[in-house]
Amino acid sequence: MKILLQFPEGLKQYALEHAKTLEAEGHNVIISCAPTYGACDIATQEATAAGADKIIHFGHAEFAPKVQKLDYPVEYIEYSIKADLSVLETSLGMLKEFKTIALVTTVQHIQQLTEVKDFYEKQGKTVLVGKPNAFAKYDGQILGCDAGCATSVENNAECILYFGGGRFHPIGALMETKKPFIIVDPFSNKVEDISSMREVYKKKSRGKILSAVEAKRFGIIVSTKNGQMRMQAAAAIENAIKREGLDAYILTTNNIDFDSLNNMLEFDAFINTACPRISEDNERIRKPLLNPNELYEVLKLKKELEK
Ligand code: SF4
Repeated sequence: MKILLQFPEGLKQYALEHAKTLEAEGHNVIISCAPTYGACDIATQEATAAGADKIIHFGHAEFAPKVQKLDYPVEYIEYSIKADLSVLETSLGMLKEFKTIALVTTVQHIQQLTEVKDFYEKQGKTVLVGKPNAFAKYDGQILGCDAGCATSVENNAECILYFGGGRFHPIGALMETKKPFIIVDPFSNKVEDISSMREVYKKKSRGKILSAVEAKRFGIIVSTKNGQMRMQAAAAIENAIKREGLDAYILTTNNIDFDSLNNMLEFDAFINTACPRISEDNERIRKPLLNPNELYEVLKLKKELEK
């Protein structure tokens, strides 16, 4: 069988090892070296071009399993980490004032979720594990674009607890929730309350809105990645902009490249309809990079200023 292997950035170092194993089993193996950040980005175009019979996607759980059916055979091999749980003991001090916790994590730690939950329950806490929205696969799992496991139980919890490393996943959930947000990181063995970062992100967002208020021509970015393509939303945004007598174009790309956007000098601002987390990378682009909500705020503000 001809197999296309796809690894996310942090796991690309293991691609060769897996390729050799599959070759020893008699398969013909191709390795994708394109950037991959999530299961929203299955390399179906590459696999078609290479004539592969199947894709093996490493690291992530299936994206949007209930709503998205890919027309390509894909095998998902999730990456689990058995992290040291001693940080849970460390976290008890910061959690002293919270009796009910909404517990979230990434797919890498989903196997440890029950163990983490049991630990806090033994300490007398009530631990809530929520359901994802459309994109994540497991109860308790968050993605940068799916904070459902936090928002679905937030009302009954006193705080949100993210168990895992990195900021990419928790920041998405932080911005979708209002309760105190605690990171319990088993890699750095640190416990941190990041609730105050909400204000920082809100200020950044307000800054982007204000800097786009004079814009006359907008570029609406649409990703061609299977889990990120929002052509209908982009068309609605285009109409909304044009209704205000402004200019708008839909821009397509498989991978958002900030240098290419910086080369599009005739655009005054961009709207990102792809991975929602990309809009936070505003420092790498010279023009404002708005999310759809920020764009509607810009249009509202323009109207108010005209009055
Ligand atoms: S946060 Fe972005 S990269 Fe991650 S799964 Fe969602 S769309 Fe894909």
